[in-house]
Amino acid sequence: MTDTKITLPESEIPTHFYNIAADLPTPLAPPLHPATREVVGPDALAPLFPSGLIAQEMASDRWIEIPDQVREIYRLYRPSPVFRARAFEEALDTPARIYYKSEHVSPVGSHKLNTAIMQAWMNKQEGVKRLATETGAGQWGSALACASKLVGLECMVYMVRVSYDQKPYRRVMMKTYGADVVASPSTLTEAGRSALAANPDSPGSLGLAISEAVEDAAGRDDTKYALGSVLNHVLLHQTIIGQEARKQMELAGDYPDILIGCHGGGSNFAGLVFPFLADKVSGARKNLRAIAVEPRSCPSLTAGKREYDFGDAVGLTPLLMMHTLGHTFMPAPVHAGGLRYHGSAPLVSHVLDAGLIEAEAYDQAEVFASAVAFARSEGTIPAPESAHAIHATVRHALAAREAGTSPVILFNLSGHGIFDLAAYDSFLSGRINGK
Ligand SMILES: *Cc1c(COP(=O)(O)O)cnc(C)c1O
Repeated sequence: MTDTKITLPESEIPTHFYNIAADLPTPLAPPLHPATREVVGPDALAPLFPSGLIAQEMASDRWIEIPDQVREIYRLYRPSPVFRARAFEEALDTPARIYYKSEHVSPVGSHKLNTAIMQAWMNKQEGVKRLATETGAGQWGSALACASKLVGLECMVYMVRVSYDQKPYRRVMMKTYGADVVASPSTLTEAGRSALAANPDSPGSLGLAISEAVEDAAGRDDTKYALGSVLNHVLLHQTIIGQEARKQMELAGDYPDILIGCHGGGSNFAGLVFPFLADKVSGARKNLRAIAVEPRSCPSLTAGKREYDFGDAVGLTPLLMMHTLGHTFMPAPVHAGGLRYHGSAPLVSHVLDAGLIEAEAYDQAEVFASAVAFARSEGTIPAPESAHAIHATVRHALAAREAGTSPVILFNLSGHGIFDLAAYDSFLSGRINGK
């Protein structure tokens, strides 16, 4: 019997990020200036991002070296284990072999720290003193707060007002790492002040918090902005997940037939899938399936249109070519806050249109039922976001039993749900049904 927990030594932390742009069958459509609709060049992004990250955003090389000092910090929690979910297979009574990559083992409890560390380090290298960002439920804010402290930067987080009030523990976590956290809308920016003037009790929104963080960064020489998903360089950083997983599956003596990840902006899905997708593009693994899973209440891949749209709700960012529900779309307040984004990463949208990946959408109640079943056999309580990947895994594992096949399924456990117990409380007491 192979190991349940498939680990790699620290020497196997990847030395390069994998850039799928080098292997795309057709080139990616570039971002456009919102007013002129001309292609956005590096200069337009310079007030917000350090030049090293802008270069990565536009890079076409297949492999991009990871600085030694960044790999040094990754040693805190990488390589992350892959688990064979034997107890879960037994509970489901499925002939499928189920594996999961465990990104919940990072100090902040999700994959977001992978890119936060690289982004903070690059900013520090270029003399930046302070980072500004937004956070909804708090996963990205806590990752950037942690990474900023690890490399020696100040961190300013604009946290959506409703989450600030209702999810105090992520806020305390950010403050423990030394970040400044304010409720958005705040009185610190023009965007915040005008929102408060219109409605002093405004609950805030992610779009508004982005506007505040961007305004903060653009208005100060010592400050840059950081984003936790969607952009090419963020997806690039997450490819260490799939590179490690490839080696771990080799150790297990299996190759995945089906890869599954939940999808908000696309970064954890791309991180797991892109390093395997190269095999599908080359024809070596023509039948490999990769499935992005989203909430039925925010179905950007399964119901959105692929067109140029703003990355934020207010319309400040460049136009991105992506699957989108429209930048004014306001998703229902489901518990998987990290999946409530109107669009999808341009790279993920591109590979979906190229027929290289698939997408599925599920309702919140069925997702939580699978999350609880997983916790009861594997021990880990998954983040409500990650639970979408688990539910899709359940569906495919049960379909395999019906069809008499035994596929190898690998899904990404993007985070744990220890800060989401209020959501589990709602489910367990019957207050989550339908969507
Ligand atoms: C933010 C988040 C997501 C969604 O973001 P992606 O960029 O789509 O990965 C998924 N899972 C967890 C645990 C998150 O924190």
